[in-house]
Amino acid sequence: MKRLFVLLVSVMLTVPFFAQPKYIFYFIGDGMGINEVVLTEMYLAELDGRIGADHLCMTKFPVASYATSYSASNSITDSSAAGTVLASGSKTVNGRLGLDDRGKHHITIAEYLRDMGYSVGIMTSVSIDHATPGAFYAAVKSRNEYYTIGQQLAASKFDFFAGASFLKPNGKDKNDQNLYDFCSAAGYTFVHGQEEYLAHGKELDRVILIQKHEGVDKNAGSEGRIPYAIDNVDGALTLPQITSDAIDFLSSKGKPFFMMVEGGQIDWACHGNDAATVIGEVLEFDKSIALAYEFYRKHPDETLIVVTADHETGGLALGNSDYTLHLKELKNQTHSSTIISEELKALRAQYGKKLTFEQVKDFLSKNLGLYTEVKVTAEENAMLQDLYKKMMKNKASDDKNMYASLDAISSAALKLLNKKAHLGWTTNSHSASPVPVFAIGAGAERFNGHFDNSEFMSRILGPKAEKQEGVVRFK
Ligand SMILES: [Zn+2]
Repeated sequence: MKRLFVLLVSVMLTVPFFAQPKYIFYFIGDGMGINEVVLTEMYLAELDGRIGADHLCMTKFPVASYATSYSASNSITDSSAAGTVLASGSKTVNGRLGLDDRGKHHITIAEYLRDMGYSVGIMTSVSIDHATPGAFYAAVKSRNEYYTIGQQLAASKFDFFAGASFLKPNGKDKNDQNLYDFCSAAGYTFVHGQEEYLAHGKELDRVILIQKHEGVDKNAGSEGRIPYAIDNVDGALTLPQITSDAIDFLSSKGKPFFMMVEGGQIDWACHGNDAATVIGEVLEFDKSIALAYEFYRKHPDETLIVVTADHETGGLALGNSDYTLHLKELKNQTHSSTIISEELKALRAQYGKKLTFEQVKDFLSKNLGLYTEVKVTAEENAMLQDLYKKMMKNKASDDKNMYASLDAISSAALKLLNKKAHLGWTTNSHSASPVPVFAIGAGAERFNGHFDNSEFMSRILGPKAEKQEGVVRFK
C-alpha cells in the first residue's frame, strides 16, 4: 500500500499539472443570454406551427447551468473584461484586455495549453483582433489598441486564427510594418476564403484564415465582420466553415488541441435590437457547435465541449403585452437591419424628391412584411408617414448604436416588427443577466451548478494536483 502511494505521488508530480481533456472546444456566444437561446428555440417551434421549443444542439448537452457575468469594475461587463476573465480566470475592469485590474497579465488557457504542447485555434465571426478573440492572446490597457493586439497575435505562436480581417492593419507611424507583413514575417500564412483553405490550407504550418480580400470587405459590412447569416452573401466565409476548417487543420497536426470559437455577431445584432438577425446568428453559432459535437462523437472520452457567453446584450425580453408571443412574424424580415437601412438609403438616393410614401411602404412590406403579412395600425402608419416626411426634408436623423447607424424609418420599422413579435428590448447596450453554460464530454460534470465566470479556465482544465505538507492532493 505504502509503495503504491509513493508511486502515485511520484507519478502525480511528473504528470501535467492539470488533468485536462485532450480535445477542448470553448464556444463563446458574444451577447448570447439565455433569452437569445430561448428566442431561437421558440421561433423554430412557431415555424413548425406549435408552441414550445425546438432544441438546438447546445441545449441538448447533458450539462446546462449558468454563470455570473459582472466585471471587476461594473455590474454590467463589456466584452474585453468578459473575454479576459473567460480566457484567464482573472476579472478585470471594463475596456481592458488581458490585464487584470492592477495591470498584471495572467496566463490564458490558450497560452497554458500551447505551452503544454497543444495546437491552438482562435476563431470568430468578427475581426480577429476584437475583444473576445484578443483576450486569449493579447495584453493591452485598452481593447481599442488594435494594431498592438495584431502584433501580439503574431507573437502568440498559436496555430490557427480565423475571422474577418484586422481592424487597424496599419500602425500610427508610417514606418510601421502593416499587420499582413508583420504576421507573415512571424511565420503565418494568410488564407483568403474557404476555397483557398480547401485547396492548400491544411498543409500550412500557421494559418490566418480571413475573407477573400485583405482589409475591410465592403460586402461584409463596414465594421470588420463576416456577413450576417441572414444576409446570405454569396461566397462569403461563414462561422461553420471556419469551425470545420479549424477542426480539419488542428486535428491534422497529430497533437491535442484547444479551440475557441466566438459567435461575435450575436452581440452586434443585439446591440441593434434586431431579433431576426440574432436568430440567424444563434443558429449559425449552433451549427458550428454541431460540428464540434460530430468530432466529440468520434472521440467521446477525450473531448470536452463547453458553450457559454460573455454577457447578454439588449436586455431581450420574451413578452411585451399579453400571454402570447408572435415570433413567426420575424420570418418576414429578409435581411439584417444594417442592409435594410442601406437599401432604403439607396432607394432615397435613386428617387430623390420623387420617392413616395407608397414606395416606402412597399419597401417595408418586401423587407419586413409590414402592411402585408404583419398588420400596421393607423397610429403606427401615421408614425412611419411622419418619419417619411422628415426624411424627405432631410430632418430624420440616423439611429446609431455601437456597431451600426440606421436610417430613422428602417430603425422605427424594425422596432415595430420586434414589438409585433411581442419582444421587448431594454437597451442598445449590454445587461447584467447571467450567461448560460452548456457542456458535454470529458469533464463536463465540472460545469454543473451556478458558478462565477472566473472559474471557466480551472473547470475546463480540471483537477489541479497540488503539493501540501509533502502529500499530493487534488483540489
Ligand atoms: Zn457588445
